[in-house]
Amino acid sequence: MISSPCILNDVTRCIGCEECVAACQKINQLPQEDPPPRMGHSEDGLSATRWTSILRREGGINVRKQCRHCLEPACVSVCPVGALQKTAEGPVIYDKSICMGCRYCMMGCPFGIPHYEWNSLTPSIRKCIMCYEKLKTGEIKEPACVKACPKEATIFGSREEMLAEARRRLDAEPEKYIQHIWGEHEVGGTSVLYISHVDLGFLAWENPEELGSGALPDRTWNALKKVPFEFVGMGAFMTAAWWIIDRRMRLESEPEVENAAEGEVSGKDDERGLQ
Ligand code: SF4
Ligand code: SF4
Ligand code: SF4
Repeated sequence: MISSPCILNDVTRCIGCEECVAACQKINQLPQEDPPPRMGHSEDGLSATRWTSILRREGGINVRKQCRHCLEPACVSVCPVGALQKTAEGPVIYDKSICMGCRYCMMGCPFGIPHYEWNSLTPSIRKCIMCYEKLKTGEIKEPACVKACPKEATIFGSREEMLAEARRRLDAEPEKYIQHIWGEHEVGGTSVLYISHVDLGFLAWENPEELGSGALPDRTWNALKKVPFEFVGMGAFMTAAWWIIDRRMRLESEPEVENAAEGEVSGKDDERGLQ
């Protein structure tokens, strides 16, 4: 596995085909559903079963969203049990068996990436892992999302190579791009970089003005350690509340399913009436 692996997303090339999304779900054996609006599925399309998504903006602009694999990840620094880890090579991975579902990482991440398995009986946090295990064993040479992209809108290499390629593209077509590489310095640097013809400040969960170039871990932990540990006990209550609200939302968004079910019942009644 190359050291300091990195993904470069070029917004100008993305056609929004979502081949990357489908490839990610396939290689990670995630359900390839297109979920209706419901709890646990945020408006940006990310969820516990969708680790990358395409944000649509006016003017046909498509922006891929995924974990940035921060060089100094806030999610790792706030995890009390070490379930999230920064590997020696670079990708930020997690150990589902250790995760206790406290969701500190969800609050700590500046990009709103980790998602919780709200509808699991043994829930934990899920997010992009940069196909770490498969890259490490040599089973694949590049992440599945990158391999699937037909436009080289998302490419893979070492961080040095990706920064060099980003600069090459900016220099070759200065009128086409904003002269900025998102992720080169923000939050201490990330291993998923972006170049673009539109401002990408909206990708930050926090106010981009406040994001800055300093690493977040110290700042984040100083804030989170003030949260009472009893907060974790809220998990069970929140999961129960989720189950009730989610069921209601799903029933409301699937009236035809309800109607079909009712029709089936009344049809059976009719059949009984004919007998
Ligand atoms: S983007 Fe968020 S989840 Fe990903 S490594 Fe950075 S802090 Fe962690
Ligand atoms: S790097 Fe792997 S896990 Fe991450 S979005 Fe791409 S395919 Fe999914
Ligand atoms: S596969 Fe490439 S072009 Fe298609 S949506 Fe993903 S990044 Fe964009």
